Amino acid sequence: MSDTERSGPARQEGDREARRGLSRRDVLKLGVGAALGAGALAGLAHLTSSAGSSAPHLTKPGRSAKWLHPARYYRAMSKDFVQCQLCPKHCIVGPGGRGICEVRENRGGKYYTLVYGRAASVNIDPVEKKPFYHVMPGSPIFSFATAGCNMDCNNCQNWQLSQARPEDLPAMDLPPAKLVGAAREQGCSLIAGTYNEPTIFFEYLLDVAAEGNRHGLRTTMVSAGYINRAPMLNLCRELAAIKIDLKSMRDDFYRSNCEGTLKPVLDSIELVKSQGVWLEIVYLVVPTLNDSEDEIRDLARWVRTHVGPDVPLHFSRFYPQYKLRNLPPTPYETLERCYKIARAEGLHYVYVGNLPGSSETDTHCPKCGKLLIRREHYRVAENHIENGRCKFCQHPIPGLWS
Ligand code: SF4
Repeated sequence: MSDTERSGPARQEGDREARRGLSRRDVLKLGVGAALGAGALAGLAHLTSSAGSSAPHLTKPGRSAKWLHPARYYRAMSKDFVQCQLCPKHCIVGPGGRGICEVRENRGGKYYTLVYGRAASVNIDPVEKKPFYHVMPGSPIFSFATAGCNMDCNNCQNWQLSQARPEDLPAMDLPPAKLVGAAREQGCSLIAGTYNEPTIFFEYLLDVAAEGNRHGLRTTMVSAGYINRAPMLNLCRELAAIKIDLKSMRDDFYRSNCEGTLKPVLDSIELVKSQGVWLEIVYLVVPTLNDSEDEIRDLARWVRTHVGPDVPLHFSRFYPQYKLRNLPPTPYETLERCYKIARAEGLHYVYVGNLPGSSETDTHCPKCGKLLIRREHYRVAENHIENGRCKFCQHPIPGLWS
């Protein structure tokens, strides 16, 4: 689940209602419209107009069998129970029940996903918003999400999506072929499963990526990395790039703030890197909770020794929301300190995000030190990378540049 990238460009009305202790039911009371930003609606309007319809085709189909799609990665148990093996929660689900993510349901001993082809948010974003800074700079990326999540982070930016059940959000029928067709029509050569946690719409994302590959589009995933090894390996065969939110270097933080654990996330990061899929890491710096000098140093050292100094590390600014309204935004000085620690530990590409005006969003050549990419918020103002190399000293710069 992304806690650094909002769905849609505008703050949503429902945000004002957020407070510590919100339950899924509280979220639903806030209304289904909260999940769809202005950008999402524009995207839906386009998609439906291209299909000849006069209005966005938002549906609220409840538990209709139309949305059932066989799930992968589960095992049958006795008495029609199943155990999901998609993520480290390993939910055991009885007949008629659902897993913790609320989007996988046991019907008669068979397990189904309820969100295949069921897009609850669609936007065209700059790729820098994900953030991917080493993937086709300045390109639009066709971004989609469903309802649901396998975690519940106190600082989630898209909790209206992540904490909702699929039947409680308006959605559009956007199966993989239609989604890829829409991306192509919009001039996007990149696609992202994002906003909520793509792990929980695994089958949908995998088929979108395979369809995209058939048409020369690259698909990416913006994830918390809380997924088991086998499905992540499967995704690595189809995806071009994965961004993982590493939320802390402390297991305590994961347990008390995210309803997760640290080790599976670190394992996912190493797995992605080992498979040759382009990887970027984001660390949301939450005041007092994960911003100590020791922890930031541990983070930088872990990245350098486990995945190497060329993997971009983004420090992202926290803003108070959802269940963490009691904390202030991350002070600029804290982000500056994080940046300096990571650079001093030898990381080549360190960025500060979610902070318009910061010069630490630029890319410099680690060999000659020249400015290579100058970014103004999500806009690329200068780009001096040519054929994957610094145009001044020819040093190779890792990434997907064309
Ligand atoms: S993907 Fe959902 S159902 Fe499966 S183990 Fe994770 S939380 Fe449970």
